[in-house]
Amino acid sequence: MDLTGSILVERRHEFTVQVPKRARMLAELAGIINDLAVQVEQAGMSLVGVACGVPGLIDPSTGYLHTSPHLDWHDVDLISAMTEAGCRFEVGFHNSAGVAAHAEVRARRRASQAVSDFVYVTGSSGIGAALVRNHLVEGGARGWAGELGHVLVSGSEARCSCGARGCLETVAARSAILTNAGLSPDAPIGQLFAALRRSDPRAQDAVALAGRGLGEALAAYLNLVDAPLVVLGGLLERLFDNLGPKVHEMIGARVLSHAWAPVGVEPSLAGAHAVSEGAAWLILKDFIGSPDRWCPPPRGTTPYYSVDQTPEVTVV
Ligand SMILES: [Zn+2]
Repeated sequence: MDLTGSILVERRHEFTVQVPKRARMLAELAGIINDLAVQVEQAGMSLVGVACGVPGLIDPSTGYLHTSPHLDWHDVDLISAMTEAGCRFEVGFHNSAGVAAHAEVRARRRASQAVSDFVYVTGSSGIGAALVRNHLVEGGARGWAGELGHVLVSGSEARCSCGARGCLETVAARSAILTNAGLSPDAPIGQLFAALRRSDPRAQDAVALAGRGLGEALAAYLNLVDAPLVVLGGLLERLFDNLGPKVHEMIGARVLSHAWAPVGVEPSLAGAHAVSEGAAWLILKDFIGSPDRWCPPPRGTTPYYSVDQTPEVTVV
């Protein structure tokens, strides 16, 4: 992404739901980053930074991943791991739902559909959420808010990747929907859409169960945080026509304020690259806020300092 927010180069590598070993996945990621950096350098541009979104509890200031249940990664120093994997650059790591919510804020501004407050929910191999307040993503005290996928929902006793039973992810994660639809948990998602097109009852029931669980979990969340809109992204956006009405129905039935101020449910505008675009946007935002960190002022000129870097001045 360049300074205007335009995507210059992109590379997509989709892993199956059966997650490969961490070392292999990080080595592939390091290779992609190194290759893309060469393309940027060959185009005569300077690379300001590299950022990634990762599902789970992560400390963005250190890149330390405490846990990512469905990746089955625990206590990983991702910055060191990327160096060991051969990455030539320091990578910033952030929660994937949080960075996707940043991309949604930008996409809505571009489309002149800006909304100041909403709950963004992304679904794929897991379910993550982020609360946006006044156009800013609120990550909670440690940046770990929004683990909607591990909220208890009714109708499931299945064991979740986190170890608990009955989490939302046991009915609404990609592998759960595929399994409940009578498909392999690793099946291409196109098989689910094909089954829905031919009105396969198992596929319809699986998506309805996911929508019901999602609506139930979101209703609990909305009763606590008071947001006027829910935005469904990732796989949930692709399934919006099938599960959106069920989510809306559950919210209408269970959110106390809904009768006075109905909560909207809309598909995401951020598109399939929401996580990578949102992560890149964080780098860009940092660069625009403190350009002197990358571009030292010419010798003899007064340096520019951002607010948080302003040196202390003692008046005598
Ligand atoms: Zn769980």
